[in-house]
Amino acid sequence: MIDGGEAIRKLALNVARYTGLAPLAKPFVGGIGALLMLHRVTATPEKPNSVNRHLNIAPAFLDKLIADMRGRGYAFVTLDEAIERIKIGGKGGQFAAITADDAYRDNMTEALPVLEKHGTPITIYVAPGLIDGAADLWWDVVEDIVDTSSRLTLKTASGSTVVDCSTPGRKIQAVARLNAWLTLKVAEEEQGAALRELACSNGIDLSVGRPGILMSWNEIRTMAAHPLVTIGAHTINHRNLKRLSEADARHEIGDVRRILKEKLGREPRHFAYPYGYASAVGCREVGFARDAGYVSAVTTRHGVLRAEHAGFLHALPRISVNGRYQSVAHIRTMLSGVTTPLANAGKMVVTI
Ligand SMILES: [Zn+2]
Repeated sequence: MIDGGEAIRKLALNVARYTGLAPLAKPFVGGIGALLMLHRVTATPEKPNSVNRHLNIAPAFLDKLIADMRGRGYAFVTLDEAIERIKIGGKGGQFAAITADDAYRDNMTEALPVLEKHGTPITIYVAPGLIDGAADLWWDVVEDIVDTSSRLTLKTASGSTVVDCSTPGRKIQAVARLNAWLTLKVAEEEQGAALRELACSNGIDLSVGRPGILMSWNEIRTMAAHPLVTIGAHTINHRNLKRLSEADARHEIGDVRRILKEKLGREPRHFAYPYGYASAVGCREVGFARDAGYVSAVTTRHGVLRAEHAGFLHALPRISVNGRYQSVAHIRTMLSGVTTPLANAGKMVVTI
């Protein structure tokens, strides 16, 4: 979690408008390649109408997308090779690397067979706290709490307020409100406790957990041994690094390398900033990722790769493959580069 959010969704809505323009624009705005960002890949989502459904694509769409990109000359490479190609300004030809955040179990059960069919590598960014249960998939938990309630009492420092969840429209508003409260008002370290308090005070049992949504350590170890899979780091506890002190942010970015080495026998070389948007990663965090020794770090900022990114290997943008708009035409338009400056106030080289 989580991609650029509303701005990118609106962009995707508008993308069709630019589709005809894309081939013409390519010589001016086209990049040397792209990093694709996935989260979930499943044909049978538990909640098909979820407010988080932009995070899921069907395996059949992944299959179609890889075939289409291949047909248009993209070489699918490992992230290590993508970095080498950026360093030489893309002279090796147009390339793409697939990345997936959070280690959803369906990456193994439903995405991997598609990737094997095409011989396409993937990098999966793991946050050990999410795997161990020390950190929550809070966006999923919030949705469940709202789904099972018609009204919620939210206790904050300034008192109690009632959140109406009585209709589908109210539920969408309630999720947005609770997400804003958790990510802006509640301290990062307090998020889990605040979530449990919200559930408990509204009579909802969270102890059941969410078995099988993410991979277990054994499954991650199996994936790590697969020739197409690279495991990257995603902080220890999936924290918004900008909201942490320097010591805590460096701990989340640096010590996850040691934890993943202990668990998997190999230090991760690549890093993904949780959330990855402007209010979660800035110059300070990019410096920390570089200092921690990573070869690369990715954001969720929208953009294609350009030769200039050789100087910004710890602030690489990605193209989110959005579950709401599973259309090869949309992705083609985004890959043309035409949406990169549109989503970034005219910037062609997107970093943070
Ligand atoms: Zn994430």
